[in-house]
Amino acid sequence: MPGFEWIDEKEKESVLEVLDKGFIFRYNFDGARHDVWKAKELENKISKKMNVGYAHVVSSGTAALTCAFNSIGIGEGDEVIVAPFTFVASIEAILLAGAIPVYANIDKSLCLNVDEIKKVITPKTKAINLVHMCGSMGDIDAISALAKEHNLLLVEDACQAIGGSYKGKKLGTIGDIGTYSFDSVKTITCGEGGAIVTNNEDFYEYAHKYSDHGHDHIGADRGAESHPLIGYNFRMSELNAALGVAQIDKLDDIISTQKKNKSILKESVKKANNKIIFRKLYDEDGDNGSFLCFFMPSAKETEDTVKALGENKIPCAYWYNNNWHYIKKWEHFDNLASKSKLSSPLYENNKKYNSLDLKVSDDIMSCLITIPIFLKYENIEDVANKLANILS
Ligand SMILES: *Cc1c(COP(=O)(O)O)cnc(C)c1O
Repeated sequence: MPGFEWIDEKEKESVLEVLDKGFIFRYNFDGARHDVWKAKELENKISKKMNVGYAHVVSSGTAALTCAFNSIGIGEGDEVIVAPFTFVASIEAILLAGAIPVYANIDKSLCLNVDEIKKVITPKTKAINLVHMCGSMGDIDAISALAKEHNLLLVEDACQAIGGSYKGKKLGTIGDIGTYSFDSVKTITCGEGGAIVTNNEDFYEYAHKYSDHGHDHIGADRGAESHPLIGYNFRMSELNAALGVAQIDKLDDIISTQKKNKSILKESVKKANNKIIFRKLYDEDGDNGSFLCFFMPSAKETEDTVKALGENKIPCAYWYNNNWHYIKKWEHFDNLASKSKLSSPLYENNKKYNSLDLKVSDDIMSCLITIPIFLKYENIEDVANKLANILS
């Protein structure tokens, strides 16, 4: 799961290079920086690794989503279809763009279900935000085809799924625009950071300007640059980028270590209890191995198991009851908890966001247990045995 487990001399050298030789700001100051350009280096490494036309780094995954929605032209009154199981940032970025999050049910892939998406498309729908939850992919072929059919833009929130792939293509690079997060508990970390990736030059051109007050980034004199659009400050500092440059070089090793550890724990769960169903993976090889997700036969058994895991000090998430990842606890979105009046029409009509019948998602989420996979274990066999004892 986390790149923070593997910070060593490489990260230290890279950060020190900025402090000793470089400059903390990512643009300009050519004379002061002695050719140290960490943010640019990170962008080049991301676009190469992901085999995508453009990558642009920003200050967080949330900033990346905000940039993505603005860059593809999502705004007031537009509807964006999103799952009720994600991190709150996926919803915040839609709301704060003035758009309306429209929820559709998930399935056992833990991501949006294509038939459920069909039920909520309206003439106002502009985009689908497909969140690849817990390190693995949603039903990307079917959802891409549906998006094309209805002329909708496809955003891939791959903040939890960097390094994952689908039929050989990296998650985040398949739709119109994708996002990654490098916060401190993600697969690779910059401390705080994020990125957008896209093959669309226009979206990229908008994104890099939007993340820096609309600066056009042409020429060496920052003060003389024009501002073709209204932007924000979502810049990544060179210190954060320096961490990222060292971390992305480790991405392949991080993924293969996670996958190895995950398969040990998965085998143990499989052997212990044949009633347990695992999360659906559309491309098992493309899983990034961050999480082991499985379903118990009933909500009661799930709660009892979560309790037993806690007593045995095995880290696990019961997302159904968690404040940040499932709609059940998102009353702040329903209550429109904002002091300022936002432009979304829902703020005027005081309409509830979650008008959808969520029974399908509730049934899935209430039986879901998620075990985060770490890079380093004191004794993974011991964890595997404890898991087996609890589940058998
Ligand atoms: C972490 C995360 C984000 C936000 O990333 P930050 O870097 O923490 O802002 C967005 N979406 C999902 C699915 C995430 O897990």
